[in-house]
This record gives sequence, structure tokens and C-alpha cells, in this order.
Amino acid sequence: MAVPTEPLYLKDAYLRECVALVVEAKDQRLRLDKTIFAPRSMEYGHPQAEDMGFFYTNHEQKGLAGGRIGDDGILHSVDGDLPDLWEIAQTTLYWERRHRLMRVHTAAHLLIQVLAGDRGIPVQFHKARSPSVRVDGGQLYVARDRFPRRDWPSVEAAVAARVEEDLPVRAFTLPRADATELVDPRFGDVGRVDPRHEDIRLIKIRGGPAIPCDGTLVRRTGEVGPFRLRGARRLEAARVLDFTLD
Ligand SMILES: [Zn+2]
Repeated sequence: MAVPTEPLYLKDAYLRECVALVVEAKDQRLRLDKTIFAPRSMEYGHPQAEDMGFFYTNHEQKGLAGGRIGDDGILHSVDGDLPDLWEIAQTTLYWERRHRLMRVHTAAHLLIQVLAGDRGIPVQFHKARSPSVRVDGGQLYVARDRFPRRDWPSVEAAVAARVEEDLPVRAFTLPRADATELVDPRFGDVGRVDPRHEDIRLIKIRGGPAIPCDGTLVRRTGEVGPFRLRGARRLEAARVLDFTLD
């Protein structure tokens, strides 16, 4: 059994540097004993784009990407030669990229609150293989055949109001049965979380619902900044909403 990686990015999304131990290195991928690099994860149904950055081993700098989380845990991809097993790696995130992903991810949760909570519009993260939270913006799936442009300004204003309030954002975990009971199905579905997770991580923005999530979010909504809708593309009988941050 491989040594599991401690996902430091889930405990503190603001950690930008960390010294870690290489516990596996093969096929251009490496496993660390702990990591600040969030991989692209499908486990909660709304993948966030993977982190990027670099690491030093033996005074040599190499590129490191979040990679994937799969059946065998978190495997990061390395640009260049792999380090040796049990080497110490000084890892550093590209913070601007990560912080942008944190802002976009938090905006997605606010948009769910506005659409599903205030407007009663069924909404989900778009369950695509490509990330629904990216550096250039995010995507949500709305079970509606129309999302007319005249409705956009009021939705944008409702998200902006929550950003303006600078609400605290909190993460916590609950056993799956308790999380299933707590999560209002309008806002999320614990059933979509990979069944191997016995404990479910939840994100709650003050005044809003708990949403199952394994992403990295900002501490307070004020960090999100200006929010803008930029598209409502038809997909079968529904719409894929596109948003971005200015
Ligand atoms: Zn999330």
C-alpha cells in the first residue's frame, strides 16, 4: 500500500510553501508525504483546475503540477527528471494562479446560493471532465431551457452583494450519513461524492447552505472581487452558465 498524501491544501488553502518528502517517483509522476498542490479531482463532481508551481531538490528547480487524484491517491506530474525516493522537496505554489482559482471557486458557490436559494432555479456543477473551476472563469449547469440576458444584471447584483458583505467561508467535515441529512438537495448532492469517502467535506458561507466540496476557497467573500456572467449556452434541455471575475 502506497504512503497516503496528507492534503494540506484542504486544511489551509493559504499555504504557499511546504517541505515534503518524496515517497514515490515513477513515470514522470511523484507522490509526496504531504502537499499544498491541489490535483484535479473528480471526487466531489466539480473539478477545480490543478495547481502549478515548482520544487527544489538538491538545489535543482523543477516544475510541478497538481496532477490527478485517482484510485492510488494524489500523483503530481513533474517537468524534468524525477527526484530520488526519500528526497526532500521544497515545494512552492504559483500563488497568483491558485488565488484566482480560489476566487472563482468561491464565486461558483455564491452563484449557487443566488440561483438555487433566492430564485429557486435548480442548479448543479457541470459534471464534465474538464474543470468547472478554471483560471479564466467557471461553469454551472442550470436545468432550464432559458436564461434570458435581461435576468443577468439582477443575478450579478445579488452575487456582488454577498461579495460586498465580506462573509466568512468555513470548511468542515461530517460523517456521510450526517452530511446527507444536512445538505439541502437544492444546493448539492452527497450521493455524487465518491463512495470511498466516509467523511464528507462541506463548505459553508455565512448565511448560506452547506455544499459538499473538495476545492480551495477564499477565507472571506470580499476576496472574490467583481463577478460577471458571460454566457448561457444551450446543452440539450438545459443551460451551461459561464461566469468570470474581472
Ligand atoms: Zn466547491
